[in-house]
Amino acid sequence: MKIIRSLTAMAAWSGGLVRKDVKIGLVPTMGALHEGHRALIRAARLRCDALVVSIFVNPAQFGPQEDLAKYPRPISQDRALCRKEGVDICFEPTVEAMYPKGFQTMVTLPAIAHRWEGAVRPHHFSGVATVVTKLFGIVRPRIALFGQKDFQQSALIRQLVKDLNLGVEIVVNPTVRETDGLAMSSRNVYLSPDDRIRAVTLYKGLQAGAEAIRRGITDAETVRSAMVQVVKKEPALTIDYLSVCDPYTLEPLPAVRSRVVLLGAVRIGSVRLIDNLLTTPPRRSS
Ligand code: AMP
Repeated sequence: MKIIRSLTAMAAWSGGLVRKDVKIGLVPTMGALHEGHRALIRAARLRCDALVVSIFVNPAQFGPQEDLAKYPRPISQDRALCRKEGVDICFEPTVEAMYPKGFQTMVTLPAIAHRWEGAVRPHHFSGVATVVTKLFGIVRPRIALFGQKDFQQSALIRQLVKDLNLGVEIVVNPTVRETDGLAMSSRNVYLSPDDRIRAVTLYKGLQAGAEAIRRGITDAETVRSAMVQVVKKEPALTIDYLSVCDPYTLEPLPAVRSRVVLLGAVRIGSVRLIDNLLTTPPRRSS
């Protein structure tokens, strides 16, 4: 495995392969790699000839009060995981190279990015869309993989690729969870041991929503109440949002008629957790 830090070296490596029609795959990450990332890397390895994992803690997607400085950066462990999974290039650009003096252009956002995470973290998605566009330009992948864990982010990336004709196939991989159901996240290390146990309540809330839908409840507010009730049982959690949405537009729905996404975000201590479940209502027999 090769480690590349310079943008020109990365672009030269990719350019050589693109000319030979080699299929490049990209898994963009911020490092602190866990089993969720490993699953993305494995899924990517099966779908491309040359695999690039980018590790870049992108300042443009952090708000001023967020955890940019303390975001975990265990780079040797990350490289070891990449090496073990057969990654060809670990691309680790510097902030100065990605955002040099005079950098100005930011991608503006589609409607799907305005609600939920977009409302709570106003600059986040514009930072994500911009860095992903830059990574696609440098690495020139034919395929890129993202996690369902960040559902709104993957919807945004699909829209971005479609609207700007970026010509990259987007694959969204299922969420990898801890044994109790908590979605794996690089930020879980911030949780105190007690909060770590309580954190699974978000997933339990989403499951209660999915269960209500399976039982045939179609009124979205009733489904939402089922989620809220479960999450509220754990006083350490503050709900940012729990919603029943259209999986394409991410607009809240009045009723569950076909597949929906249940989106949730909570705060626990200083940590914010997000999670989601895709759920299909039972077929009605007529
Ligand atoms: P991050 O390093 O947090 O920016 O995440 C990099 C990629 O890994 C994103 O596409 C995430 O959605 C994905 N990812 C993070 N956590 C998980 C998880 N638990 N399961 C699946 N994919 C994940």
